[in-house]
Amino acid sequence: MISENGLKVLERRYLAKNEEGKLIETPEGLFKRVSSFIASADKIYEPDKDISELEKKFYDIMYNLDFLPNSPTLMNAGRELGQLSACFVLPVEDSMEGIFDAIKHAAIIHKSGGGTGFSFSRLRSKGSSVNSTGGVASGPISFMKVFNSATEAVKQGGVRRGANMGILRVDHPDILEFIQCKKNDKEITNFNISVGITEKFMEAVEKDEEYELIEPHTKKVKGKLKAREVFDLIVDMAWNNGEPGIIFLDRMNRDNVVPELGEIESTNPCGEQPLLPFESCNLGSINLVNCIKDNGIKKEIDFDKLGDLVDTAVHFLDNVIDVNKYPLEKIDEMTKKTRKIGLGVMGFADMLINLGIPYDSEDAIETAESVMSFINERSKQASAKLAELRGAFPAFEKSIYANKSMKLRNATTTTIAPTGTISIIAGVSSGIEPLFAVSFIRNVMDNDELPEVNPLFEKVAKERGFYSVELMRKIAKMGSVRHIEEIPEDVRRVFATAHDIDPIWHIRMQAMFQKYTDNAVSKTVNFRKEATREDVREVYMLAYKLGCKGVTIYRDGSRESQVLNIGAVN
Ligand code: UDP
Repeated sequence: MISENGLKVLERRYLAKNEEGKLIETPEGLFKRVSSFIASADKIYEPDKDISELEKKFYDIMYNLDFLPNSPTLMNAGRELGQLSACFVLPVEDSMEGIFDAIKHAAIIHKSGGGTGFSFSRLRSKGSSVNSTGGVASGPISFMKVFNSATEAVKQGGVRRGANMGILRVDHPDILEFIQCKKNDKEITNFNISVGITEKFMEAVEKDEEYELIEPHTKKVKGKLKAREVFDLIVDMAWNNGEPGIIFLDRMNRDNVVPELGEIESTNPCGEQPLLPFESCNLGSINLVNCIKDNGIKKEIDFDKLGDLVDTAVHFLDNVIDVNKYPLEKIDEMTKKTRKIGLGVMGFADMLINLGIPYDSEDAIETAESVMSFINERSKQASAKLAELRGAFPAFEKSIYANKSMKLRNATTTTIAPTGTISIIAGVSSGIEPLFAVSFIRNVMDNDELPEVNPLFEKVAKERGFYSVELMRKIAKMGSVRHIEEIPEDVRRVFATAHDIDPIWHIRMQAMFQKYTDNAVSKTVNFRKEATREDVREVYMLAYKLGCKGVTIYRDGSRESQVLNIGAVN
């Protein structure tokens, strides 16, 4: 059953409306539209196949909220726009034509609900010469501002807010300006920014050495900086307001399945999907709350159901690639060479609560390992099964899998998405994040306020007889239940919220999911307001050591407008 909040979200942007803005589609209608359109891709491979059974299967997993594809698929499948992917990476070449082509392409993608990532690392630095005009270059950050304004203008007309990721390599001569470009959080608001960190740089940080800045268009050394000073500046800015994040470029490229096709230099806006230039990827997430069974003694993970869902979801996501309307010919071509899909999860924290496992415990880390290793392995088997009929992804022979006996239909199968909107539709905790608060006010899209008390908590409180209106108020105000004595100890442990959880557990959880995820993991490491720069630094170092592909942190209260607010009473 879709919750009231879920319905509100669907009504606002997802369900079809007529010219007067009146709804002409029900949620059932939406799932019908999406399932029959996505199932129709099977006809490409088996023209005579009766796809009604498959349509029903796709319909059921969405209707039961067991699985949801990313928002653009829900919004656009079977409709005129027809663009179904959330994630794109576009190249930005070091020329006027290249830069403005990228802006145009991004605008087209934003219009359809997709997000774009860019590396600005190829742009020559500020003040370097421009041969054709004899003038001087204005540098990557000034162009980022142009991208930002273009996004701002397109924003209102699109199906949702356009989102961008901007990356600059740590060895770019303009890196210091880049690190500080969002110091004022009213600047470049349509971008998340991340510094592209190299292993060479991290070694220099560890040894307290200088490292070289390289001018991208000449490849000449333009200067040197002390690695620790740069690292400390990144930490300081992130502590200040959460930006920039960092991504580990070498780590990402070690997982580049087809290095011959190009180098990974950027991710999509929320960081979970590293892609080659012009590649796109569609995502989908399994609702883990619906994969629990009671064996008569206790609750446990229902791996049979989970396995079936993975099989159907992989089939679904592979079909999306074929019926997607790509915004550019070049994107169509690149996407179909690797056929990347990103299957992930939502409701992980809710699942832990149902199983009685605190998020910040070894038990939780082990649960993450058993769930994600299972999904990753099973999704490869499902992809291999599709390859038997449909063939391996076209770049397979050039890929790192070429000599393996198992052919794969998809170069990657797993990604942990933020599930910002689809988790609201499903009514569960987002992605692999812990609960933000047991009671809170969530500002989603267009500043609408949706007050919420965690339904699992309300249920437990009523069952165990400690529910009272005053107590719920108190919790809303404090944001956490950990220190409220009238609540039983075990309940306090299990209903851990993001700020109760030590940042080290956040990063350990991210690292465990990353271990079994082909692409990357969307995760925000939440810090309390009192956290120090040293705390942030420690988490960055740990993320690097544990093999994460990037880190995003956020210290409570460090931005004027936060998406989620603790302590806000309904
Ligand atoms: N995204 C976007 N604009 C938004 C939200 C998301 O472009 O307002 C893109 C972005 O690439 C992000 C991806 O969609 O990384 C997945 O985000 P999420 O899982 O939150 O999307 P959902 O499917 O839940 O809407």
